[in-house]
Amino acid sequence: MAQPQQIVTRIAPSPTGIMHIGTARTALFNWLYARARGGRFLLRIEDTDRARSTPEATEAILDGMRWLGLDWDGEAVSQFARVPRHAEVAHEMLARGHAYKCFAPQDEIEAFREAARAAGRSTLYHSPWRDAADATHPDAPFAIRLKAPRDGETVINDAVQGTVTFRNDQLDDMVMLRSDGTPTYMLAVVVDDVDMGVTHVIRGDDHLNNAARQAQIYRAMGWAEPVWAHIPLIHGPDGKKLSKRHGATGVMEYAEMGVPAAAMRNYLTRLGWSHGDDELFTDAQALAWFDLGGIGRAPARLDLKKLESVAGWHIAQMDDSALMDEITGYLALTGQPALSQAQHDLLAHAMYCLKDRAKSLPEILEKGQFALAARPIIPDAAAAAHLDPVSRGILLELTSQLQNASWERDTLETTLAQGAEAHGLKFGKLAGPLRAALAGRSVTPSVFDMMLVIGREETLARLTEAATRDG
Ligand code: GLU
Repeated sequence: MAQPQQIVTRIAPSPTGIMHIGTARTALFNWLYARARGGRFLLRIEDTDRARSTPEATEAILDGMRWLGLDWDGEAVSQFARVPRHAEVAHEMLARGHAYKCFAPQDEIEAFREAARAAGRSTLYHSPWRDAADATHPDAPFAIRLKAPRDGETVINDAVQGTVTFRNDQLDDMVMLRSDGTPTYMLAVVVDDVDMGVTHVIRGDDHLNNAARQAQIYRAMGWAEPVWAHIPLIHGPDGKKLSKRHGATGVMEYAEMGVPAAAMRNYLTRLGWSHGDDELFTDAQALAWFDLGGIGRAPARLDLKKLESVAGWHIAQMDDSALMDEITGYLALTGQPALSQAQHDLLAHAMYCLKDRAKSLPEILEKGQFALAARPIIPDAAAAAHLDPVSRGILLELTSQLQNASWERDTLETTLAQGAEAHGLKFGKLAGPLRAALAGRSVTPSVFDMMLVIGREETLARLTEAATRDG
């Protein structure tokens, strides 16, 4: 019995300087599809545009992939390094009669197009060299063109778009190898995909027209065509093509905002793909559920509010050590000092009371400031307003009551309630001064949580300091 073919997908970004979220989503779809099916997921850098393909631009792609956790199999393939192979295939097609030498000079072709445009005629160029006998060939540079079918149709059976039909009389004999010996994009993609064994081409639908031309190469060469799946692009909330004015377009900008990678994966997976009404899911669920049938035909719209709520859900349900890893990565990425071991441990210890309502990593750090700060705790202006002579007096009194209290939530609650009551106050009145003393801020986790996290000694030291500080 024949072995079922192993699935091979790929992402083939051109290094543009950033990893666009559209590219990130395409990579994610390919990754999910292959990983869930025991397949391989490959990375090819389409670096034939030498001016744009700097090592930094390539690194930006790799950074985006790594941050999103999209591991690829084997080495990243450089398209540019494969130019000799592309040329070889063009010559092979020539030898097999699927292609021909075109000696038409570029300026002649341009002039034809110009005139056709001006006259409102089709600009489709039909080379006079298609059927020219070899004997008539001049000794001059030539391009290699595909001898494309003139009649009939090229039909693409697309897993997302359905059956898409292109009339062959609307497609010209595309150039595959230019007269300077460089391959065109159209040829390079097909040769690379074939040599890399790609079985599924899942990419943006801006490449749908290319699929027709690429299919002609597969068919001419008798190569097995991949499954095509062209995904609608991501639009802005207004339904227009995504641009900077809608929000960040680079995936690393989201990393720098402190969106956890797991949340970004969830959000991007759901952007243009659905599984019933599921909005929030783990990687394991995405892997189990993802398929090409769930990809919609309408462009998905970027919704930053939704991303925020997805991030909140992931933060709340992620385990503390995974969150600490995310925070460590976030600090490094944004050029902030790393946490000391003591800060790391205390923040991890505090995580249970920080993660429930936080929607980003910097929000966790902000709320967790009490665990990161070292004495003296300098209150900000809002917190300082709570530290008047009366409240400082009460804080000082509390230090002696807390000296011997057992360090548990119930006892702490009773002790503080009694302390407030002794002054005819509700506990709420004490919360402001306590927050100011313990965290130097007015937005913090509950006073009890802070006390439990930092412990008796540190609590007493902070209260004493706030009660006795000058000014
Ligand atoms: N290099 C192309 C791009 O970045 C992708 C080509 C492909 O996926 O076939 O849009």
